[in-house]
Amino acid sequence: MAIPPSQNAFLLVCDALFSAHASPAGHPESSARLQALSHAFSQEPLLRDAVRISPREATLEELTCVHDEKYAIDTLQRLRNGRSGYLEGDTFFSPGTRHAALCAAGASVDLALAVHQRGQATGFAALRPPGHHATQNRAMGFCIFNNVAIAAAQLLQRGQAKRVAILDWDVHHGNGTQDVFYGHPDILFMSIHQSPLYPGSGSIDEIGRGDAPGRILNVPFPPHTKGADYLAALRALFVPLCQQFRPDHILVSAGFDAHHSDPLSAMGLVADDFGAMAQMLRTLADALCQGRLTFLLEGGYQLDALANSAVATLKAALSPSTPVASPPLASPQASEIIRDLQRRIAPFWAPLSPVDNGDRTPRPS
Ligand SMILES: [Zn+2]
Repeated sequence: MAIPPSQNAFLLVCDALFSAHASPAGHPESSARLQALSHAFSQEPLLRDAVRISPREATLEELTCVHDEKYAIDTLQRLRNGRSGYLEGDTFFSPGTRHAALCAAGASVDLALAVHQRGQATGFAALRPPGHHATQNRAMGFCIFNNVAIAAAQLLQRGQAKRVAILDWDVHHGNGTQDVFYGHPDILFMSIHQSPLYPGSGSIDEIGRGDAPGRILNVPFPPHTKGADYLAALRALFVPLCQQFRPDHILVSAGFDAHHSDPLSAMGLVADDFGAMAQMLRTLADALCQGRLTFLLEGGYQLDALANSAVATLKAALSPSTPVASPPLASPQASEIIRDLQRRIAPFWAPLSPVDNGDRTPRPS
């Protein structure tokens, strides 16, 4: 049955093949994460009727639109040997990693293209290995190929999109995506992350360069930051900048490790906070880019928190656009960080509204 244009379609990548990327015993980035997501999705009537996209391996041409050719070829060669080991300190591989990593990148491209061509759709890829730490020439932090960067670059390279906005709400800085697009005029990238935390980059003064100063945004929040501050960052930065940037597609590096129960971090989000962010993104995508909104899984290591947060995200993203009824108030600490970043990017954008921290004290003008 044809889906009427007013209905928000759900396109899903969720496939057992990613389990072939076998992790060392006890490692938090394991195939149990995708099993938890698959089970949770099967329990939700809204999520059961997804259009499924079968993963296929990315081509070398697709990888090298983001990665150095030498890195891509050398890495594929190392993964071909049928053994297990480490590409670097944190990034393990097993005999099934080559196929899984290539399919994670290929599925990200196909999902983004399918969402883009369909319009008015929500895409979600439950994939591993994750991607946002992988730089142009280096595997890092469980990541081998940068799935979100490859998907964004392919949307541009194939002439599907002129501009793409990427929001990275994984608790760790999206250093790899930043590395790929630092100075790229057609990408707006914002990472909200815990600081200090791995990988240590993503300070507030990293804002891009060259043709595109002010198009990289880093929001380094302290440990125990709550969802209201994430929403304030979206409202004061990502939403108004997208309104100026006019992306054709919004991609999300959707890690769920900012949940308060995640073992690798110390943030204070609950599952519904991810839903509230997704609701804001749905409204934004509907207003700016024909409803094109695609989520690619990054981190998230407490299985219940991962599943509940992903379900909350998708239920909100699949709901009709709704204005946020009462804007959340940012904490004083988060407000200062947001204001600081607004000041740093001010030369490159039209004026932004001040962040609302509830302070109604009259000030001299
Ligand atoms: Zn993470």
